[in-house]
Amino acid sequence: MKCAARCDREATTLGWCGRHYSKAWRLGIGAAGAQRRVDPAEVIAHIHLLRERGWSWQAIGDTAGVAMSVPHQLVSGKHPKVSRVSAQAILAIDPVPVESGILVHHVGTRRRVDALARMGWPVRLIEERAGLQPRTLVAALYRERVTALVSARVAKVYAELSSLQGPSRLAASLACSRGALVPMAWEYADIDDPKAKPFQGFYRESA
Ligand SMILES: [Zn+2]
Repeated sequence: MKCAARCDREATTLGWCGRHYSKAWRLGIGAAGAQRRVDPAEVIAHIHLLRERGWSWQAIGDTAGVAMSVPHQLVSGKHPKVSRVSAQAILAIDPVPVESGILVHHVGTRRRVDALARMGWPVRLIEERAGLQPRTLVAALYRERVTALVSARVAKVYAELSSLQGPSRLAASLACSRGALVPMAWEYADIDDPKAKPFQGFYRESA
C-alpha cells in the first residue's frame, strides 16, 4: 500500500510512510495525531506516587524534562489529555523515596511503627536508627503530618528490622494490646495504601 500522502513511498504506519506519519503525528492528523495525546490516568497515578515518595513538582518536571507546571496541572485535572512524550517521560521516573520536607500520608509510617513495636522495637529505637531527633516520630504521628524524610527513613528502618525480634517485650505487649498488627499482616498488602486491607489470619491467636 502506498502512503496516504501519495508521496510514492510505501505506507508503513497507519497508512503513512515514515516521514508523513511523523508529520501527521506532529500536526495531530487522523489516527497518527490521536496517538500523540493519551489519557493521563496512568500518568496522574504515577505523579501521586512520586509525590507520596517526596518528589517536588520541580523535581518531577526536571527529571521528565517538562515544565514543573505539567505534572501539577495534570493532577489538578486541567488537562483531559497528555502528550505521549510527556506521559512516557513521567512514567519512566523511578519512584525512589526522596528525603524532602514535602508532607505525605502518614498511614505507612504509622503502620510501620506499629508493626515494629509489635516486634519489640520501641519508637525511641526506631527514631535513633532512623537518625531522627527524639520525639520526632511521636509528634509527627500525633499531628498526622509526616514529611517525606521521616516516611523514607522509617521505611528504611522497617526494611532492616521488621523480620527481626526487637529487645523490648514491653513495647511488644503494649503494641499488641492496642491492636497493632505484625509485619506479616502487610506482606501481601501495600502498607502505604490507606485503603489496603491487612491480612489478619492465624497469627492473631499466636501473639
Ligand atoms: Zn509519504
